[in-house]
Amino acid sequence: MPSPPSVSCTDLVLNVTLRCPLHCSHCCYRSEAKLSDAMCQSHMEQAIREAASLGSVRTVHFNGGDPFLLPELMLSGIRLAHGFGMRTAAVTSAFFADTPDRATATLAPMAAAGLSEISVSYDDMHAVYITPRHLVNLVDAAEQLRLMVYVSVTIEPGSRIDRKHVAQLLGPGRDEARVRIYEVGINTTGRAADLADAASRTARAASAHAYRGPCNGVLRSIQVAGDGRILPCCGVLPHSDRMVIGHVDAPNGLAEALRRAAADPLWNAIASAGPVDLIVAATAGTDRALSAGEFDGICAACDRLFSDPRLLELARQRTIDLAG
Ligand code: SF4
Ligand code: SF4
Repeated sequence: MPSPPSVSCTDLVLNVTLRCPLHCSHCCYRSEAKLSDAMCQSHMEQAIREAASLGSVRTVHFNGGDPFLLPELMLSGIRLAHGFGMRTAAVTSAFFADTPDRATATLAPMAAAGLSEISVSYDDMHAVYITPRHLVNLVDAAEQLRLMVYVSVTIEPGSRIDRKHVAQLLGPGRDEARVRIYEVGINTTGRAADLADAASRTARAASAHAYRGPCNGVLRSIQVAGDGRILPCCGVLPHSDRMVIGHVDAPNGLAEALRRAAADPLWNAIASAGPVDLIVAATAGTDRALSAGEFDGICAACDRLFSDPRLLELARQRTIDLAG
């Protein structure tokens, strides 16, 4: 048996598909309807079995794109994870919840299979495609099925829809222990980066939502992409080959990937100092010094780091020097 990873991995995120019926302007994965990828069943099952054998993973997440485009695949994954005693969670835009009946008909089999919680996104960008009724239908159905519900509201400077607005849409009398609404800032990655102009980048970087500290998710919440590649986090940036830490097809794929990554000073620096601090320190005194204010979030910093081989080399060297 491989030795256990030194960092406790509590969450496995399965990127079931990058396909999505929506085309949000801030989508970190550039998801859209014309994509046709889907996680293969054997990769999904292998990842769940291995996660269960690690002993530390408490929750398996079904992410996208929108995983509700592949309900049969999701159902089999939820059953398997639930059978191992792990919690299960799924994200969605609520695209299927145009009526109360359709919301219930979609969620009820998932709940019966063992789904524990659902995360739904609603904000100015989603509201281009999704009506308030979709959101309310989904939350009503989820509450009736006794699922935990997280409503994620992405905030741009000047956003019309914020946490308070969503709370008003959902109306009074909600079980606040079961329905939680929270705001997040935009990381300028993926389509958000493709569409951003200089003014929006500056405004996002100046926003109170811009977080530049340590990464609390790296190696704790790992992701398996649809093709079986293992990534060290579920950060909001397009999957980068330079971040890949293993593959589920390899013997003891998850455990070995975690063991190697936990010994890598780069991931430890991202966990302890964060990628913004790392980049600033690694480039200080060079002809390409970067400042913290250039990044509107830690995942945007990782996007820069892992897109630029020279910057990655400087950062790696810095972590090796500090470790030595
Ligand atoms: S942000 Fe979410 S709902 Fe919007 S396109 Fe991307 S995956 Fe789909
Ligand atoms: S900061 Fe980097 S390592 Fe952490 S979640 Fe974002 S992309 Fe992943």
